[in-house]
Amino acid sequence: MSFTGEGVWEAPGRVNLIGEHTDYNDGFVMPFALPHTTVATVARRDDGVLRLTSADMPGGAVELHVDELAPGGPAGWTDYPAGVVWALREARHAISGADIHYESTVPTGAGLSSSAALEVVTALALNDLYELGLERWRLARLCRRAENVYVGAPTGIMDQTAAACCTEGHALYLDTRDLSQRQIPFDLAAHGLELLVVDTRVKHSHSDGEYGKRRAGCEAGAAALGVEALRDVPYEGLDHALARLADPEVRPLVRHIVTENHRVERVIAHLEAGEVRAIGPVLTEGHASLRDDFRISCPELDLVVESSLAAGALGARMTGGGFGGSAIVLTETSQAPTVTKSVLAAFETSSLQPPRVFTAIPSAGARRLS
Ligand code: ADP
Ligand code: MG
Repeated sequence: MSFTGEGVWEAPGRVNLIGEHTDYNDGFVMPFALPHTTVATVARRDDGVLRLTSADMPGGAVELHVDELAPGGPAGWTDYPAGVVWALREARHAISGADIHYESTVPTGAGLSSSAALEVVTALALNDLYELGLERWRLARLCRRAENVYVGAPTGIMDQTAAACCTEGHALYLDTRDLSQRQIPFDLAAHGLELLVVDTRVKHSHSDGEYGKRRAGCEAGAAALGVEALRDVPYEGLDHALARLADPEVRPLVRHIVTENHRVERVIAHLEAGEVRAIGPVLTEGHASLRDDFRISCPELDLVVESSLAAGALGARMTGGGFGGSAIVLTETSQAPTVTKSVLAAFETSSLQPPRVFTAIPSAGARRLS
């Protein structure tokens, strides 16, 4: 289609390197941005109309009136950008309409956060076009509000912050309690390494209910231990804390969160010391914790981890919410074709649909292109 806009912006999908399910426990996460982005061509308009089109969605243009935006309407992809406009207006920023066309290379529903890419590219474009002057972390917070309240998805702050704040060649350390952040060097190519993303292309249907159960279990653990959040349980005090927990369902959840926060700190220490290979075993440990303690893996994700390690990968783990989606695999660049072949062969032997495998290059966060 031909489209004349006032500008073009993009925002990336992301992978979480380590720090899984820690975000709703006030803990640490460490995402990095993918080279896959959602591009938005945006023109400002002043008649109160928000006109949205996406090359990736059937059904043509959707026209909404900014004055009438409210949570709880019929669900659809336009909820994400409409939610951003709603959140900006709720925060008293005068957005009077826009024409927005999206086109994305971020796989949707693969745990790579196409939803945050869509929100953040919208927020950044409107921030620039309406000269709002909002800092990126503020945009991320507004986008999270859009996703939580307008879309109705109970996500943490990680995805939006990653899309808004990541930088090339780095992973982003984020403390989800005080929102402080630090760019951690993560230039894989310079070390002869590659990080593969393996999208299993499965999503087991019970995942939403299980997420709620894990969240409730973590809250119960924090309450039983008398802390505000599990982030407040020190790693050195883990055994003592576990001994105080009567509920056998809650104990392994607490162990995962406390050890996972510790793994984030270990990964940072390795990366800052330039010991990139040393993070491999920490990633694999994280997978075992998610599989055995948090119990959110699935046969397909376990198969990626087992088959890649068997072929010589340095480390591997599921990433994202669990019960499907993607896994990440750290490997020597020279070994990457062998590892990929091994994973594909394992899926074929198990009569599973072939996963999608690609190399994740730590890339830039959201930006204006023209
Ligand atoms: P994830 O964020 O892991 O990819 P979600 O279920 O959170 O999965 O978000 C995916 C949804 O975001 C899609 O179903 C769609 O509604 C919306 N979405 C993402 N990318 C686009 C796009 N390029 N165009 C339109 N809608 C999109
Ligand atoms: Mg999402």
